[in-house]
Amino acid sequence: MQTEFLIIGQGVSGTWLSYYLQKANKSFIVIDNDQPNAASRIAAGIINPVTGRRIVKTWMIDELLTFLVLAYEELGNELSIKAIERKSLIDFHPTPQMKIAFDERCKENADFLFQAEDQWQYQNIFNYDFGFGKVDPCYVVNLKEILTTWRIELLANNQLLEENFEVNELKYTDTGINYRDIKAEKVIFCDGINSARNPFFKNVPFALNKGETIFIESAGIPNTHIFKKGMMLTSIETDLYWIGSNYLWEFSDDNPTEQFRKQTELLLRSWLKVPFKIVDHKASVRPANIERRPFVGFHPTHKNIGILNGMGTKGCSLAPYFAKQLADHLVHHHQILAEADIKRFSKILMR
Ligand SMILES: Cc1cc2nc3c(=O)[nH]c(=O)nc-3n(C[C@H](O)[C@H](O)[C@H](O)COP(=O)(O)OP(=O)(O)OC[C@H]3O[C@@H](n4cnc5c(N)ncnc54)[C@H](O)[C@@H]3O)c2cc1C
Repeated sequence: MQTEFLIIGQGVSGTWLSYYLQKANKSFIVIDNDQPNAASRIAAGIINPVTGRRIVKTWMIDELLTFLVLAYEELGNELSIKAIERKSLIDFHPTPQMKIAFDERCKENADFLFQAEDQWQYQNIFNYDFGFGKVDPCYVVNLKEILTTWRIELLANNQLLEENFEVNELKYTDTGINYRDIKAEKVIFCDGINSARNPFFKNVPFALNKGETIFIESAGIPNTHIFKKGMMLTSIETDLYWIGSNYLWEFSDDNPTEQFRKQTELLLRSWLKVPFKIVDHKASVRPANIERRPFVGFHPTHKNIGILNGMGTKGCSLAPYFAKQLADHLVHHHQILAEADIKRFSKILMR
């Protein structure tokens, strides 16, 4: 089988890269083993433009938002699904100090932050003592639908192999790569945390981060907003809600923990006034890294071996933008943004 690109992984990164290569009329094969707890299959799909105690804008968010809303809408139209939904975030202040910090930022006219018009409008649904602020716009990406629908499309076009990719069977030369019966010009790893073990990219500073989520059934929580009080709560289907997450830098496995379940149940019991039932609990590991910047581009020595990874906690906002950059680099030889280009690790990659 001859193709231009071999893509390993069909999480949010591999989905967007294959989408843009398809648009550029390039040939490719995706290999994906459909790991049920891959980060993209556990994530809520939330895009929140602000972060931290100071509630500052996240990296590149103005540029990313302009790009990604159009990108998801276009993808959604092509796949006949609702790929992205705008929702504002109702940020319940957990302490009086956090309320003051939020109000101060509003006075500074910080982008995306708004005071509540009616501080007590959610008091029939939630317990909260210090009011709330609003973050707008935020978005929720329908990852489940996007990944599934794109997968069906790839299968129908004979562009997807549903199997495990074995890196030790990859043979590469200066002119191309061979993998089993596939001959390709280049291979691009979009395999999430597996790249941290991959012989080509294991030296880049991945800092894997485990996260868990609980799914609850409940009626009476508006699906028009994302709610936050310590954790995020958002609707993912009618009467089904996602709540999470924690951020663990040290962990011994990727299984759900009793501790998170108990902590989340306690939070829900003190926060929600409406009845709820816990129906599922999942865990995954984020392909995060120390710099909090993606890994995009080609290995300095093995020029036909590339990567689109390192999306950390922000795969939904970073993956479409950097997949497009990588596709433009491949098709039009455009430069990749220096802060994201894997070239910044040339020294350690050449060791
Ligand atoms: C609990 C939790 C909540 C999150 N919430 C959000 C959120 O709300 N918003 C947001 O933007 N981000 C969120 N994230 C982060 C987000 O999930 C990641 O940034 C993103 O999913 C990374 O996507 P990826 O495609 O790079 O990797 P992955 O999602 O890990 O995809 C890798 C793919 O490669 C496949 N694969 C791996 N190895 C092989 C192999 N050897 N052979 C074949 N196939 C292989 C896997 O099956 C998988 O399909 C969350 C993460 C967690 C854990």
